[in-house]
Amino acid sequence: MDPNCIFCKIAAKQLPARIAFENERLVAFEDIAPQAPTHLILVPRQHLASTLALEPAHRALVGELVERAAQLARERGFANDGYRLVFNTNPAAGQTVFHLHLHLLGGRRFGWPPG
Ligand code: AMP
Ligand code: ZN
Repeated sequence: MDPNCIFCKIAAKQLPARIAFENERLVAFEDIAPQAPTHLILVPRQHLASTLALEPAHRALVGELVERAAQLARERGFANDGYRLVFNTNPAAGQTVFHLHLHLLGGRRFGWPPG
């Protein structure tokens, strides 16, 4: 755990969050500034700064994050309509929290290309 990282603190229950799902490896919680009717953040408990920190040993973990996001989309009823999964990486892409996270956005239509 990185003691200065807000997502590590949420995963450790040292900061409050509305948790949608958790297990030994990952936590999903509601984004504090939602950009869609459903906007969840999925994080590994392990601190990794971004997708650029990924190594072969993390393949199962990243696969589980994506699979869990799909499962949450099904449970919330917008899987068939469609949803958006996003890993922002570094500042030009809008990354502001440097703990690897997957955005799950659903419940509305999304434009393409994104802004
Ligand atoms: P990114 O811009 O991809 O790094 O995404 C960071 C996301 O974390 C943003 O959508 C923020 O609204 C969200 N966020 C920041 N702080 C918190 C928090 N304490 N609880 C929940 N979501 C947060
Ligand atoms: Zn962290």
